[in-house]
Amino acid sequence: MYKVSEEAVRQRMNTKVLYNGGFAICDLPIAVSSHCPYCKEKVVFKCHDWTGDPSKSISSNSECASCQEKPVFISVGFFQTGNIWFGRDLYIYPGLEQKRALVSDIETSMPENLIRAYKAAIDTYNVGLWNPAVVAARRVLEGITKTSLPKEEQNQSLYKQIETLSKHIDLELPIKQIGHSLRTAGNLGAHFDLEKEADIEIASIMFDLLDYLIEYIYAIPNRVKILEERITKEERDASQQ
Ligand SMILES: [Zn+2]
Repeated sequence: MYKVSEEAVRQRMNTKVLYNGGFAICDLPIAVSSHCPYCKEKVVFKCHDWTGDPSKSISSNSECASCQEKPVFISVGFFQTGNIWFGRDLYIYPGLEQKRALVSDIETSMPENLIRAYKAAIDTYNVGLWNPAVVAARRVLEGITKTSLPKEEQNQSLYKQIETLSKHIDLELPIKQIGHSLRTAGNLGAHFDLEKEADIEIASIMFDLLDYLIEYIYAIPNRVKILEERITKEERDASQQ
């Protein structure tokens, strides 16, 4: 479940809901602007067929106009003013994207001020401030390139900084290191030797590294492509307005 902010509610209506053998009149949202938990598109959900018990919770069916999946909206915390019930909080189920966490094991290798900027960016993302979040992510990128370049190259444009990055840090090295670590760790389980056995720590680090390698080679190029397609679409849409 994910809490929907009040600003996302585009339209409300007094709606009759079966209650105590009669009806309760409830002030309920009938149009809610939200990212779809299934396809992540931003759509306006029409909420209809509200059913439940206003002293507990009332839920509504809805359908995503983009992917036709059916998330549920749940209104809770009802209180009565006159003869109308008002819900305090609105939730969408299933929940939207889980909160993001910092990449682990960076404390000793990432500069302190860069960790602070990175933490600030994650916090902005986790409260759903998308425009400030993308700006903060770009700032972290600037921090990464700057702290990796010698002083005389730090004042170039971000484009140039990215282009010269590979001259100063060996971008190939981490991938080679992952490959060799996986190769040698894999030998531990391959030969019967009571002195050299794998355990859960070795196996879980190994599978983490395997994930990174697969992500780097297979998943990242696809994600970059998806992001570039979205940027092109946003620019095209903006130029047509
Ligand atoms: Zn959808």
